Amino acid sequence: MLRAAHKTGLVIFPAFDWAISPTHPEREERLLYTQDQIFEEGLLDIQGIVEFKPTLAALEDVQRVHFCVPDERSVLTESHLISAGGAMTIAKAVMEHQIDRGFALVRPPGHHAMRVVHGARGFCNINIEAIMIEHLRAVYGVDRIAIVDTDCHHGDGTQDIYWHDPDTLFISIHQDGRTLYPGSGFHHELGGPTAMGTTINVPLPPRTSEEGFLRAMEKIVLPILEAFQPELIVNSAGQDNHYTDPITNMNFSAHGYATLTSMLRPHIAVLEGGYSIEGALPYVNVGIILAMAGLDYSKVKEPDYDPQRIRQPEETNAYIDRMAEELLGYWRRCPEFIAKNRATKEFAQRERTIYYDTDNILENQKERLRVCPVCSGVLSIDSLTDRGYHIYAVHIPRKACSDCVSLGYEWFDAVNGRSYDGVYLQDRTTNRYVMQKA
Ligand SMILES: [Zn+2]
Ligand SMILES: [Zn+2]
Ligand SMILES: [Zn+2]
Repeated sequence: MLRAAHKTGLVIFPAFDWAISPTHPEREERLLYTQDQIFEEGLLDIQGIVEFKPTLAALEDVQRVHFCVPDERSVLTESHLISAGGAMTIAKAVMEHQIDRGFALVRPPGHHAMRVVHGARGFCNINIEAIMIEHLRAVYGVDRIAIVDTDCHHGDGTQDIYWHDPDTLFISIHQDGRTLYPGSGFHHELGGPTAMGTTINVPLPPRTSEEGFLRAMEKIVLPILEAFQPELIVNSAGQDNHYTDPITNMNFSAHGYATLTSMLRPHIAVLEGGYSIEGALPYVNVGIILAMAGLDYSKVKEPDYDPQRIRQPEETNAYIDRMAEELLGYWRRCPEFIAKNRATKEFAQRERTIYYDTDNILENQKERLRVCPVCSGVLSIDSLTDRGYHIYAVHIPRKACSDCVSLGYEWFDAVNGRSYDGVYLQDRTTNRYVMQKA
């Protein structure tokens, strides 16, 4: 009998009750074909591959990460709580040594959901990985965590949530934002003033194939991971880089995804995008599972796989090499940039317009960060949407110093509730969440 080298857990949750619309590419069939393939290949008969049933995330889990406007129940469904709960189930099994690694094959996805949630962006309402990670920190005391997002789209939601967090390394590899939604994720986006160097973006040109992806892993992702020394590696395992994906333009393969997984060695993988329901998802998912379990994945091949047809353009490798050199150059200087920010700024502001393409909402956000000399700094967010909703939120980070905690409460108390539709406080030093509606 075949035996997995690494005990690997799976959660499979197709979410029959959730669809944006009946013909939307993010639909339950994404997981049904995978489920059939897992069964056909006999993966669950392999000793050391075990299936778990997903649990439900609690609102308290959501409140460690998000400010849901006006409240959680208005922006999420039970399917979202099971999707996040499925990732939490895998994480718990890893932490309690029931398994070495695990893969949450869940939907709806989450990596476009930012800290403030007015609705759905890029098919995402709440951020599955962030909810899982903050649960791990609250319950198991895990500190340094790396997230490597291999979805074809920039993981702009995860980037937003961890932009100011020096203990979470977020690396996103994706199709260049000049050619694909959401249009961000350039290699000079490196994190907030006190956390520069723990956000890393690797934009790849359209039609990059296995060769280019693995080159970017080798030259950029693995050295930065090695330097960060995370306690846990999480893979946001989007599969829409596949050459058959209908909404993207890349040339990646199932074999490439499996090889990438064996290089990355994630403790936890969480499914993100991937819309080639029959042509890619079943093969890519099986490849990832075999690679996680330390089994032979060389026979995982799409029926129409032809390496000649999906060769990347001639200049792609040279482009990746140039970007790697520039990116690593900036990244090495980040401690120096942080020191300079701390020496020269008391506060930093950021003003942005955020578009919710799925729900057609336009948000204007003003963020104010205390550039604290000792911690990552307290953060306030003023958010107004084109639907007229106006909120004010204060986020006190997990390791805030006492000055930042006091300032956070001062900001929260000083705000005149009547000029806002809602005022929120997220104090991560005590896991306290307050929501005051006008
Ligand atoms: Zn990505
Ligand atoms: Zn995607
Ligand atoms: Zn501070």
